[in-house]
Amino acid sequence: MPANVQLIDRLRQIPYFSHLDEPTLRLLAGKMVSAEYEPSQDLCREGERADRMFILESGEVAVFRPGKADVLVEIAVLQPGDVAGATSLFSQGRRSATLRARTPVRAWVLDHPTFQELFDQHPSVARALLASLSQQLAQGGAMVAHLLSQDFDPRYRVVVYDAKSYTEAFFRERNRHDYLLQFIGARLSLETVALAAGSKVVCAFVNDTLDEAVLKELRGAGVELVAMRCAGYNNVDLAACARLGLTVVRVPAYSPHAVAEHTVALMLTLNRRVHRAHNRVREGNFSLDGLVGFDFYGKTAGIVGTGKIGRCVTEILAGFGCRLLAYDRYPDPALAERLGLRYVTLDEIFAESDVITLHTPLVPETKHLINADAIAKMKSGVMIINTSRGALIDTQALLAGLKRGQIGHAGLDVYEEESDYFFEDYSDRVMTDDLLARLTTFNNVVVTSHQAFLTREALTNIADTTLENIREYQVGRRGSQLTNLVRVG
Ligand code: NAD
Repeated sequence: MPANVQLIDRLRQIPYFSHLDEPTLRLLAGKMVSAEYEPSQDLCREGERADRMFILESGEVAVFRPGKADVLVEIAVLQPGDVAGATSLFSQGRRSATLRARTPVRAWVLDHPTFQELFDQHPSVARALLASLSQQLAQGGAMVAHLLSQDFDPRYRVVVYDAKSYTEAFFRERNRHDYLLQFIGARLSLETVALAAGSKVVCAFVNDTLDEAVLKELRGAGVELVAMRCAGYNNVDLAACARLGLTVVRVPAYSPHAVAEHTVALMLTLNRRVHRAHNRVREGNFSLDGLVGFDFYGKTAGIVGTGKIGRCVTEILAGFGCRLLAYDRYPDPALAERLGLRYVTLDEIFAESDVITLHTPLVPETKHLINADAIAKMKSGVMIINTSRGALIDTQALLAGLKRGQIGHAGLDVYEEESDYFFEDYSDRVMTDDLLARLTTFNNVVVTSHQAFLTREALTNIADTTLENIREYQVGRRGSQLTNLVRVG
């Protein structure tokens, strides 16, 4: 296939080839062959002899590295224009990673013997390569000097697990202390813990595994600080952290408004059947049958947990003109006074509310707060909203309540077993979780994938607070000197 202009441009951006002149670049491009790969096909495998360079032309390629017990862990995704394996043109070592096509992929490939032949036949190639390499050596020397002058040590390296594109974008943008951020697409687990080696800080999220076994491995790898980039920490074994001497920090509040507004979005969507109306109109069906809702004005809302998020929800519902009942272990008299809210028992919330919304953390006392007994006490047709933690609701009991019509609507941003599915694209696979599958079949249930926090403001605050938490630890603050310490003892 003839060399194209984009390919020549791409080659020019590879540091080794930056000094090649136009005719030599064209010569090099002319030696490359186009190859196609099916989804799931390997372009190359970790451990095999490295004998080709790839330039991705179209599609996506996942990069896998061996984690714990040699299980392959996805660490990055290559996009069109990305280059892999350039050093294999010069020296044939072993591949350090497996490259696997995620989609149909087209790539330009140059193999080692072809490149060597070119190298031998054209002294201009050798001269240009030497010029590039000597420049890089000089730059490398300057960089090492810079790092040494900064007293570079592993405290500056932060391994960010379960990182999505939005995590990376906001953390990079807000990284004003210039940490060496390493984004790992995979969740923290026994299989991926080895990737934290050499770092004193790991940054984890709601569905990462931080049980005793993982925490032991983290400690063994030299980690000292677990920086949770979320408010909840029910997935962290705090007793094990205390035993191992690990410090845990979190982001106690990043935008209660984001979560509260999503909570109300679920209420209004369900009540006014926006999800069904939207689908109908797209199908050209403009009928209104089955879309009858109710006025929120004058209805009774039961808010369970009136902390930062519950308070924001209460304020919005007060604006709607709802009658407000609340339950909290620590009532807030000022809030009650200001909004005309009445603190009552949980049983009264269940018996009187038209809408029940959950805003307590998940702790042993709140697990399955909504169970078969609680549902039996509720008004027929009640709306239940959960944007807090999945296990506040016994899903089996919820399904039974929905089937017999006792529960009229359910809006769920969280689900007991969400860690298997939420945040990931499973659209080309079969859903094996029967409870989740059943939930998604009801026309009066809306499930969102733990997205209540997902606003620009919240993501900015999460990145800022997490990086500041790390900074505090790095400058030597310990224990209660850390603003957002999670007490482990
Ligand atoms: P918060 O700590 O400000 O408020 C929690 C409230 O629950 C407090 O008023 C506390 O007194 C009350 N509470 C605690 N234990 C209780 C118990 N056993 N019985 C009754 N009340 C109890 O927390 P917040 O910022 O309002 O967040 C609430 C929850 O929302 C978090 O724990 C987290 O699980 C969840 N959350 C979800 C998302 C999302 O994206 N879906 C985002 C952030 C937080």
